[in-house]
Amino acid sequence: MLVLIILVNTSIYFLFYKITIDNELEQLTAQTNIIVEKLAENPDSATSELLFAFLPPEGMIRVIQENGNNLKEQARKGEYTQLPGEYSTTESQEIVAGKNGEDVVVITKPIIWNSGEQAGEVVTLQVSDHLIGNQETMQNLLYVLVVASLIMLIPTYIAGTFLSRFLVRPIKDLIQTMKENIRNREWKKINVENRSQDELYEMERTFNEMIDFLRDNFEKQEIFVSDASHELKTPISIVKSYAQLLERRGKENPELLKESIEAIDSEADRMKKLVEQMLALAKNKQTGALKQVDLVSLIEETTATFQGAYSREINLEKGMDMLVVNGNKDQLEQIIYILIDNALKYSKDKVKVSISEENSNAVFQVTDYGNGIPEEERSRIFERFYRIDKARSRDTGGTGLGLAIAKTIAKEHHGDLSVTSEIGEGSTFILRLPIGEA
Ligand code: ADP
Repeated sequence: MLVLIILVNTSIYFLFYKITIDNELEQLTAQTNIIVEKLAENPDSATSELLFAFLPPEGMIRVIQENGNNLKEQARKGEYTQLPGEYSTTESQEIVAGKNGEDVVVITKPIIWNSGEQAGEVVTLQVSDHLIGNQETMQNLLYVLVVASLIMLIPTYIAGTFLSRFLVRPIKDLIQTMKENIRNREWKKINVENRSQDELYEMERTFNEMIDFLRDNFEKQEIFVSDASHELKTPISIVKSYAQLLERRGKENPELLKESIEAIDSEADRMKKLVEQMLALAKNKQTGALKQVDLVSLIEETTATFQGAYSREINLEKGMDMLVVNGNKDQLEQIIYILIDNALKYSKDKVKVSISEENSNAVFQVTDYGNGIPEEERSRIFERFYRIDKARSRDTGGTGLGLAIAKTIAKEHHGDLSVTSEIGEGSTFILRLPIGEA
């Protein structure tokens, strides 16, 4: 603002100065021409009086001969005649500096003298005017511009300071909160009450959302680590207690030896599965390059594998021969595997598997006729390590990670995994995936 004001006011000052000077030059040139005309018209009139009549208010008129002598010289004040004058046959208009710093407009013009002895001689007519009034005007203008600049700068400065404080304060608060969070390992948020709804408010709100998101994630990770270590501790302590039992009484007791070996083997399997599933859960976050996968053939293959391994009835209903989705084949196979495996684990009757198309979605459903899932448990079964009946789930080799893995894979494929269930009737798990280009 300061630079702008200085620039504008300096321009005003010099523009005004130039216009005034040009104006003065023009006026004095015009007046000089009139003097020349009058001298030509009245060669016999009393020349000194004629020149006096046209004398500029703060100036001088001089007629210089070729030999440098002043033929005529008229001035309102003696000091005005101190201006140097030379004989010249060219016309000129110039501004020179006066004694007191004022500008002096000087017009020089060669003319033919008509009167007296020197009639017919070429002489130089020099007319000058000291712009004393102009000097005062310029000084007044300077004062006005300086005062106006100050008047403009004061509110600008106040407004600028206020605005910068208004803008900088929230940013400072944000930095302070971030520093505190880092130093004290906290999840502190910014107070956004009574704030105007501007971009800074948006930034603070986003910061608060980010803090919520990070805290949620962090807490989930902590729960995951504690759950995982707890889950791993159980088989390890079982293995350890069997090993101690064998140490004490196993060598002479073949029955106990057999039981211990079986238990250790099954717990080792369980631990292996748990570790594999935890790795799968971590890996599922980064889906590799998406490929076109025919869901129908994938379901047929997986169903056939289960039918071969278990002597259970698995019915497959398919609405088409081919249905392509974009995804990772191994991960999609894993979902199908988890859902059919659960249906077989948690029911004793037949299992129905179906694939159909609905609103440009592939819909894969696995229905069992088991005990069903209580309503309050339906959302929780997708959480990591959550099992409705821990003891029963343990018998069936469950880890509580299967559905969490399935849900993550579904999400990574822009799909959705849900469940409907009737107590005593059975449950249906529904996987929806957007259909890809064939
Ligand atoms: P798990 O390894 O224990 O099977 P999941 O994440 O696959 O872990 O399942 C979580 C829990 O949801 C299971 O422990 C079980 O209690 C319940 N569940 C899963 N599928 C079914 C089903 N088809 N019928 C009844 N309950 C089920």
